[in-house]
Amino acid sequence: MYSTKVEGDHIVQSKNAIHCFDIKECKDVKYCKQMIGARDVEDINYCEFPELCYEYIGFWKVNQTKFSNTCGESNNLTYSDFCSNSSNLFACIGLRNKQYCILNYQYTKEEYEELVPKIIKHMNDMPYIDAKGRVYKYGEFFPPELSPFCYNETIAQEYFPLTKEQALSQGYQWKDKVERNYQIDIKNEEIPDKFDESIIGKVIECVHRGECNEQCTEAFKIIEPEYQFYQRMNLPLPRLCPNCRHYQRLKQRNPLKLWHRTCMCDKTTHDHTGTCPIEFETSYAPERPEIIYCESCYNKEVY
Ligand SMILES: [Zn+2]
Ligand SMILES: [Zn+2]
Ligand SMILES: [Zn+2]
Repeated sequence: MYSTKVEGDHIVQSKNAIHCFDIKECKDVKYCKQMIGARDVEDINYCEFPELCYEYIGFWKVNQTKFSNTCGESNNLTYSDFCSNSSNLFACIGLRNKQYCILNYQYTKEEYEELVPKIIKHMNDMPYIDAKGRVYKYGEFFPPELSPFCYNETIAQEYFPLTKEQALSQGYQWKDKVERNYQIDIKNEEIPDKFDESIIGKVIECVHRGECNEQCTEAFKIIEPEYQFYQRMNLPLPRLCPNCRHYQRLKQRNPLKLWHRTCMCDKTTHDHTGTCPIEFETSYAPERPEIIYCESCYNKEVY
């Protein structure tokens, strides 16, 4: 099955997907990434089989769940974190096989249904305000300043890299560089071009020397099985530390971003005026060298 009516990148067997990346077998979804088998969801990341969910991250089989993180096989969770096999939880953490709890405290169904609207009203009347003055009423995800992680420790930095100044000005925390005092055995310009067993286990300097924004560890070692693998596959010896290598691999993918562009087909295809007028969203930036086509021109070109 092909994907139909989708906009984004790396979308497989999906229908009605707007601004989505890396999704498979999803239907009626918007602003999602890394997701399988979703129905009617928006703002979801890293989840399998969510239905009717909004602003939710992680794990699988959740229904009608919002502003929550990593809750599996559950229904109707709100502002909850790491709960499973549960339903009707509000602001709970780490619960299993529970129903009708608020702040991890057990209520009856009737009490729960009476209390939740009052709490929502209170959240709207007296919202949380973060250090940047941003207001979080009911309906907003957790503020980033409550995150236990710094911006540059998370994969956010891999997809949307920020400098320390940018991250702090947007209200994120930042983890400063760890001081390292490696005794470098092999300077980066001395890494041999040919296979040379003497480098196994040596402390090798990363070409980026900690000066990039890629969590560079400044140095690395090549262990014996790794060396043998490079030799067997006839791959060049690495010159970057593993973190820098990871960032270079990511740079070869299209970013999680879409540009509005026009079909570049220069043949008489649609209206006999020469240039195809069809516009669309694409993850290929305008400065990239590839020719981008609309679906019908693409199909004419490749079949
Ligand atoms: Zn590095
Ligand atoms: Zn680097
Ligand atoms: Zn076209």
